[in-house]
Amino acid sequence: MSLRETLINRIRTIGPISVADYMTECLLHPAYGYYATRDPFGTTGDFTTAPEITQMFGELLGISLAQAWMDQGVPTRFTLAEAGPGRGTLMADLLRATRNVPGLHDAMEVHLIEASPTLRAKQEELITRAIWHDTVDTLPEQPTFFVANEFLDALPIRQFIREGSAWRERLIGVDHDALTFGLGAAQPQPALAHRLEDTEDGMMVEVCEPLAPMIDAVGGRIKRHGGVALIIDYGDWHSQGDTLQAVKDHKEVDVLEDPGNADLTAHVDFEAICLATPCKFSRVTAQGVFLERLGITRRAQDLAKLMEPAQLEQHILAHRRLTHPEEMGNLFKVVALYPEGENPPPGVEA
Ligand code: SAH
Repeated sequence: MSLRETLINRIRTIGPISVADYMTECLLHPAYGYYATRDPFGTTGDFTTAPEITQMFGELLGISLAQAWMDQGVPTRFTLAEAGPGRGTLMADLLRATRNVPGLHDAMEVHLIEASPTLRAKQEELITRAIWHDTVDTLPEQPTFFVANEFLDALPIRQFIREGSAWRERLIGVDHDALTFGLGAAQPQPALAHRLEDTEDGMMVEVCEPLAPMIDAVGGRIKRHGGVALIIDYGDWHSQGDTLQAVKDHKEVDVLEDPGNADLTAHVDFEAICLATPCKFSRVTAQGVFLERLGITRRAQDLAKLMEPAQLEQHILAHRRLTHPEEMGNLFKVVALYPEGENPPPGVEA
């Protein structure tokens, strides 16, 4: 059986499912899930992420976190955590870039939050001294320095279309043996009361339910014990319309076309992050600006001196891809979480 057949059988038995249930099955179904069963990254995979484009991404995040660790008085025992580490490339680059910071590696415990057994196995090849978790809830109660790149966009969203002062949920059903979108009955949604102010009839809003408890768990640790979170993803302030997207082989495909065999993501609502955190949050900053502030151009020039002409062209393109406003520079945003009474980490502003 394929995931499509499994889902069709399920919908025929229990009725239409939410977009969130569909995303969860497509990404993490133990036998057919997209992340659960494969390594999708890189030029031979379905899509590329910033740490897979250049080592500079993880290095600069490492420098920002290390500076924050020093600014907060070098806590002698702390968590260095990453959620959704993919191949482990970002963490490997971050660890290499910080290994000469006096005392830092002796004080840290590396914790990785990863749901996919296939990707955990990949991460184990690169990061030897780590503790793996299914969720952020089991991270220790101690100073927490946390990164997540393109993690929140993989968390399941629900979609609602406004009708008067009620909302109809977008659901996935079956029609003539094919998966198809439909709408549930109009119902009031108390959680969407504030969206009645900025939407009109027929408009869609998206809600990522796992986001708030996750941010609360990370932000709570930072508030209680110190630390910093750097959260990088594509999206913007406030959810706007339908952003659910499927990507396969570096191309956008129909969301319902091939469940389990395409990456499914939605834009991240940075407002929801800021509303959910119990600690302070920085301004939401464009990735290009963030990386320039951390000195990516200087780092790129230093690396370029060591390169052959053939590598150099790729290297210049990689720098451009991460920072240029028409590439990832503007679409991707960064927000930092940090404790009361401290400065935000380098790269972002209060
Ligand atoms: N940060 C990496 C990978 C991003 S892809 C990079 O930048 O290259 C998303 C990652 O999050 C994958 O490792 C995926 O397996 C993991 N993931 C997705 N949903 C998850 C969940 N609910 N819990 C834990 N990990 C999850």
